[in-house]
Amino acid sequence: MNDANIGLIGLGTMGAMLALNIAEKGFKIAVFNRTTAKTHDFKANAGDLAPMIVPTDTLADLVAAIKPPRAIILMVTAGAPVDEEIEKLRPLLAKDDLIIDAGNANFHDTDRRAAEAAEKGPHFLGMGVSGGEEGARHGPSIMGGGDKADWDRVSPILEAISAKHDGTPCATWMGPGGAGHFVKAVHNGIEYADMQMIAEIYGVMRDGMGMTAAAIAAVFDDWNKGPLQSYLIEISAAVAKATDGGKPMLDVILDKAGQKGTGRWTVIEAQQLAAAIPVIEAAVMARNVSGSLDERKKGEAVFGAAPQVLPKGLVTLKALEQAMIAGKILCYAQGFALIVAASKEFKWDLPLPAIARVWREGCIIRSTMLNDMATALEEDASRGLMLAPYFVGHLKASGPGLRSVVSIGAAHGLPLPALSAGLAWFDMMRTGRSTANMIQAQRDFFGAHGFERLDKPGVGLHGPWGGHAM
Ligand code: NDP
Repeated sequence: MNDANIGLIGLGTMGAMLALNIAEKGFKIAVFNRTTAKTHDFKANAGDLAPMIVPTDTLADLVAAIKPPRAIILMVTAGAPVDEEIEKLRPLLAKDDLIIDAGNANFHDTDRRAAEAAEKGPHFLGMGVSGGEEGARHGPSIMGGGDKADWDRVSPILEAISAKHDGTPCATWMGPGGAGHFVKAVHNGIEYADMQMIAEIYGVMRDGMGMTAAAIAAVFDDWNKGPLQSYLIEISAAVAKATDGGKPMLDVILDKAGQKGTGRWTVIEAQQLAAAIPVIEAAVMARNVSGSLDERKKGEAVFGAAPQVLPKGLVTLKALEQAMIAGKILCYAQGFALIVAASKEFKWDLPLPAIARVWREGCIIRSTMLNDMATALEEDASRGLMLAPYFVGHLKASGPGLRSVVSIGAAHGLPLPALSAGLAWFDMMRTGRSTANMIQAQRDFFGAHGFERLDKPGVGLHGPWGGHAM
């Protein structure tokens, strides 16, 4: 019976939840998993939704169960497994069928797969999905890339299962090829940065101010009622509240952070595009440094731990909140500037306001501030978030807090790499006359690279270094 509306391969954490979400919205879904037992367990445990689920044991059965023209979502481990599944599906599918890769693919792979699909068929969409297990089950944020016509074909299902912000679906077509997966990578980079800035503020409260985890949780809970309202602040309060055998859970968790690489991809791409995203870079760096546990312990043994305890009253909770607000605005300003750079380079015409809108609900970085960013970008997407009047106001109010927290952190050995990187970038971006004239002089001195002058027109001019130049 080929009456399923859509198919899905990969009933792992995300795939299973996405399939239940699709079934719940009234779409019959055929499912397949490499390990067959999982497929049948999935149907057996689907409760009221079981009649909407068609379990299949082979890819041929999966294809046969779906109404043509078919659409099949791949939700398998990113990388080679995606290529393997596409290769296996290709001979089973008609040219106008559609494969949708919903995993965390590198957007370069998505571009390649889209080009292969254009040549050999079937159709192909690359789709970033954010929101973790809970989002997949009850409403993720969805960032699509590929041919608009293919997106339009499946958008009724994708919009139905996505998160909603005041009734607007958080599911948007971003552009051709790898555009959706690129936007998802930037989302993840920002996610790394948001998490790192929260961890840095947590460090000031824990080490600098000697606050208990419960007291820190209360601060995050309080901030979650103001401009910092966000999923990440909310869960930071929740994790700080949690206990294990009477001890704060946070105090028994090893300080070594994992990563799957999407933050790193964002940083690599930013370097390729010469886009400055120092807050995200600092966040990825901090995860890498967290992994050097033995080296950190040796460093502490040789140099001694920095005297991180702050004199009472030196830092206020208000200044910490302001530091987080300013850091967050600067981080997003950088993230959106990276999107602009990629959009130009790859000729994607990425919709900046729509990107802010699609991140307002469902995804890990969802927050009230994203709504304000969407509004600012709708007014004028060309000036960048740092210069949008609404955020100029916020930065003028919160910038001094960021500066005071970063300077106190530096003076007392509290590492604040992401917040510091945000502040340094902000100061650079408000400096009309920078120190790059020195760099240009040095480059010309040793390499005759030439420079431009302020007082005369022309390029490739040289300095009076004479015989000193090498
Ligand atoms: P899981 O590890 O829970 O599940 C992986 C799935 O892929 C399983 O169904 C597994 O089948 C299947 N699989 C693995 N290798 C192969 C292969 N070679 N051939 C066929 N099937 C294979 O992963 P997640 O559900 O967490 O992640 C799936 C994708 O979604 C990844 O790209 C991930 O990065 C992305 N993602 C994950 C999020 C999360 O919060 N977990 C959030 C957003 C995106 P089997 O059961 O047989 O092992």
